Amino acid sequence: MSQLCFCAPTNKKQLIKYADVIRKVFNIKETEEFPILKVLDLAMDEPMFNDFSYQVVEDDDNMFDGETQLAFYSYLENTIFIKSSQYDSAKVDPRSRFTLTHEFSHMFLMQVTNRKPKLKDDDGKGIQSFSDPEWQANRLAGYILIPERICQKLNEKEIETQFFVSPECATYRKINSIKDKIDVNALFEVKSVDIAKFMIDSGSSNMVIETIADSEEIDARINAVRF
Ligand SMILES: [Zn+2]
Repeated sequence: MSQLCFCAPTNKKQLIKYADVIRKVFNIKETEEFPILKVLDLAMDEPMFNDFSYQVVEDDDNMFDGETQLAFYSYLENTIFIKSSQYDSAKVDPRSRFTLTHEFSHMFLMQVTNRKPKLKDDDGKGIQSFSDPEWQANRLAGYILIPERICQKLNEKEIETQFFVSPECATYRKINSIKDKIDVNALFEVKSVDIAKFMIDSGSSNMVIETIADSEEIDARINAVRF
């Protein structure tokens, strides 16, 4: 999607909390590497994602926009389409891990928080980054791969090793973390069972209200998902 798209705004604090929700749903500790390929499999059975699926497709399939497009998320099909070379390299290449986590982030934002992008009818001027679906997906992917609380404690090299991300990703993430100076300890004073309420209070969709009806339900769902 280009700058010509926009969607409901969000902000860094909200995205950090979404990343926390995602790690909790899949029972991934904040110190652990995010196993995106496993998560894609598990997400297909997770009711929160509304029959999500992914498909690995031949590299030369004409559904892709040339060589540069490695994967994309289709809202209409609620499916991530992934070039086969990209899927394979996500096992060993941190850049591919980021690409797939970025697409997963689009899916989460559209399906769970109801941020469907809309086309802007002029030249896209005036779209703030908080409303830009690409900014949102990049930021959320960064927070999922490298939880903010841990990011604040590590240097770039440690981030790269611990979370299996590229040096560029580690540096970019660390710089943003320093620039943004978010007090994550204050942010996470809420207990995990309050996350559902937070999502509702922060203007998420009716879908979320129905999907995560109460704290017992979200706790049960979190406990039910195990590797
Ligand atoms: Zn994107």
